[in-house]
Parts: sequence; C-alpha cells; structure tokens
Amino acid sequence: MSTLKDGFIFTLLKKYTNTFMHLIYPNQCLVCLNELPESNRTNICHLCQDNFHFTYFETSDSTRLDKLFWGRLNIHSTFSLLEFEKQNSTQKILHAIKYKSNKLLAGEMGKKIGNTIHQKSNFATIEVLIPVPLHIKKKYIRGYNQSEVIAEGVNTILNVQLKPNLIRRTVHSESQTKKNKFSRWDNVKDVFQIDISALKKFNHIAIIDDVITTGSTIEAITLKIHKEIPDLKISIISLAIAK
Ligand SMILES: [Zn+2]
Repeated sequence: MSTLKDGFIFTLLKKYTNTFMHLIYPNQCLVCLNELPESNRTNICHLCQDNFHFTYFETSDSTRLDKLFWGRLNIHSTFSLLEFEKQNSTQKILHAIKYKSNKLLAGEMGKKIGNTIHQKSNFATIEVLIPVPLHIKKKYIRGYNQSEVIAEGVNTILNVQLKPNLIRRTVHSESQTKKNKFSRWDNVKDVFQIDISALKKFNHIAIIDDVITTGSTIEAITLKIHKEIPDLKISIISLAIAK
C-alpha cells in the first residue's frame, strides 16, 4: 500500500516539478521565441520551419559553394542546405546545435539534407560520410561533435558508411571566429591527421561540416587527401554556408 502511495506522491511531485520547470524554462521556439508544446523537442515551430533560409543549391549545377573551391580544389559535388547570415534563423539553429546541446535538431537537419540530395545522381556513388573532426578535448567539453551528429542524420537517409575516425584533429586550435581568411588557413593547415590506407578503399567520400565560411578547413583536408590519393572523389556537404 505504501509503495502505491509513494508512487502516487512521486507522480504528483514529478508533475508539479515539470509544471514548475516549464514556468521557468518554457519550451520556446529558438527562432521566434513563441511557446511550443512540450512534445516539440527540436525547439523550432512549424511556421519557422516553413521559413528556413534554404539555399536551393540542389536546383543548380554551379552554386556559390562550387565556385568557392574553383581553381583551389578538385571537388566532385557540393551541397549546403541553409544560408547563414548574422541574426537569421540559420545562425540560431547553428548556435543551438553547437552550444545548446540540441543534438536532436542536428539530427533532424541532417535528415533534411539527406532527403534533399538522395535522389541526385552526383551524390549516388558516395560510399562513406566523414564528419569534420573536433579535437578530442573540444569534443569532450561539448559532449559531441556537431558535424558527426549532422552526418548521422544524413545517413539515416543515404544509408552508407559513417566513419568519424578516418580524419582526426591533432591540434587543439583556438577559436577561428575572430580570424581573417589567411590566419585561419595557417590555423588549420597542419592540424589534420588522415587515415590514408583506410581511405584508399573508397572511390567517393563525402566530408560533412556544420557551416562553411572561407572553406579553409575543407581546403586543408582535401589537399592533404589528394596529395596521397589524387583520384579519390571528394564531395562536400554542409548544413550551412555563410553569405
Ligand atoms: Zn518559431
């Protein structure tokens, strides 16, 4: 009897605690701040989802992202889902994924990427997804690598291999946000360690990133791979691209 009573009190307490927590931390849309039903775990309302800043790169053969690498790198295919600008909804999404532990949102955005590209023939031969790595220390502090969670979402649709350990970041570099294009390049040039013998088993790989700004991280990784395996097809897929 007392167990039953305890159970009842526990349920009641839990209910009140939830209501109380909800008053302090209501489930809000991270874009428009409107209150959301408790069941919405991605933290974005339907209206804001309908107003995402899509790139529509899937409808063009020479996008801004393609052009970013022209003359610099030999990239097979590229895709970014969203346009990133200061203060737009993409910035809020990236922030939630990177700093607010919203892994569910990262996975959902990955699925959107997968759904957008999986019918495109230029991505059909991809055999493996490799997320841009975080340094192990940074990954430990954050609890996860956001690019890896995005890649997991992409892979629920593409259903290929996902190999986060083929590229490692060996240097715990300082934050890149305040650097210009050239010092960023210095910052990433020698920080990646690549499992070349494992990569030699593939014909077409895709590198997954959260956001592409100057492309210097992608450049460092791609040049290093192509130096050893010049004919490996490398595609680039990111959640967002800076305007
Ligand atoms: Zn909203």
